[in-house]
Amino acid sequence: MKMMIQTTALCLFLLGAGKINAEYKCFYGNLHAHTSYSDGESTPDTAFAYARDVAGVDIQALTEHNNGGSFSGVSYSITPEHYQNLRLIADTITAPGRFVALAGQEVGSIGSSGFGHINVWEAPGLWPYNNSDLLGCYSWILDQGCPAMYCHPDSSWNSNFNDLYYYQDYDRAMDLIEIINSSTLYEDAYLRALERGWHVGASANQDNHRRDWGNRVNSYGNIPLTGIWADTLTKPAVLEALQSRRTTAMEVSPASDRINLLLSVDDRYQGEHFIRQEGTVKIMIQASAGSDFASLYLYTNGIPEDTFKVVQASPMVTWELEKNIGLGTVYYHAKALQSDGDRAWTSPVHIDGVSEKNPVVTWPTPIKNYARIVFTPLPAAVSVKAVIYDLSGKLVKEIIGSQPDQPIGWNGKDAKGRQVLNGVYFIRLEQKSATETRVSLGKTMVSR
Ligand SMILES: [Zn+2]
Ligand SMILES: [Zn+2]
Repeated sequence: MKMMIQTTALCLFLLGAGKINAEYKCFYGNLHAHTSYSDGESTPDTAFAYARDVAGVDIQALTEHNNGGSFSGVSYSITPEHYQNLRLIADTITAPGRFVALAGQEVGSIGSSGFGHINVWEAPGLWPYNNSDLLGCYSWILDQGCPAMYCHPDSSWNSNFNDLYYYQDYDRAMDLIEIINSSTLYEDAYLRALERGWHVGASANQDNHRRDWGNRVNSYGNIPLTGIWADTLTKPAVLEALQSRRTTAMEVSPASDRINLLLSVDDRYQGEHFIRQEGTVKIMIQASAGSDFASLYLYTNGIPEDTFKVVQASPMVTWELEKNIGLGTVYYHAKALQSDGDRAWTSPVHIDGVSEKNPVVTWPTPIKNYARIVFTPLPAAVSVKAVIYDLSGKLVKEIIGSQPDQPIGWNGKDAKGRQVLNGVYFIRLEQKSATETRVSLGKTMVSR
């Protein structure tokens, strides 16, 4: 299963003042590309070497088609033998601190019975493809525990993943979404995915089919790249950063003008999801690049509510602001606009706000199918468990949280897997640290 990597709940209560990103550095990657192993040109070793030596990127993925596609009657799906070879080449060429090569596959279909294309990196084997089975694909990705991304999410050519319909059960399958794929902008799909409930991060890639891995210039004169914030340039650190959505999507022009854009909310970075008491959060947006910035934007729940105009043109800008959060879910992401028109987007930070009066709540309430049980984390908690009772006091279901500082998912079913009846339910939430057990009570309602 996928592991979400988070800092401990302790951070919530030790809100430091604006020291930033000592632990992370932005590495630049192109996470979507092909060679003749599917429908592109040349071979993986040439492609990786080009990306490293000519394009000068830190991270290059080759994501060969594994979707049974054909062109002029010839299948261009990667074979299992080629895939194992690709993995071997990627591991051989990866040099810690210098270059990370990722072996990937692009699955799914964009035909009338398809759901779209999804890139999966570093899975041990190929998906036994069934191009109309989106849920089967999500479920396979979860089993692999590998990062995955929605590619070119375009509703006009049936590449929109059932209109990005949200399945809580599969939320952790998907990590990123392409805001840019070669020359096409998919910012609307990014906002829609977040609005639907997906916890996905920002990515921009080149989808190379020619010999320009890492420095393909699109029809607007820009090179799309994904900034990946990791502590070291190693394969495990890069994969962890992708699964934690600690990314920035950007368009780069000229090639030297790569953008650093980092968002932090109460010292939690883009991609993170945490719970905190309602109140004021401290937001910091830092941008730096080779050329000047014109504006920074802070999006709240997908809406650009706050703008920072850079009065004195500068290639390095820091913007600090405070926002009030109440009960419920809020997500923030940042966007930067350079004077020459180039843009960059961060992944979102998600926050579930709780209050002292309502220490245990569900989002949404009332519950239809899925809900998150949200609570105030106990500092240094090691475990959390929710026990749900009906009005008569009968036990309905006990759910152990996968991590002590994260919401607990409930699918509205009892211990035997039957949908519960409409009505009010009580939740007894128990958190344990080494020194303390805290019990909090809440209630919710199911109404279908
Ligand atoms: Zn594709
Ligand atoms: Zn592709």
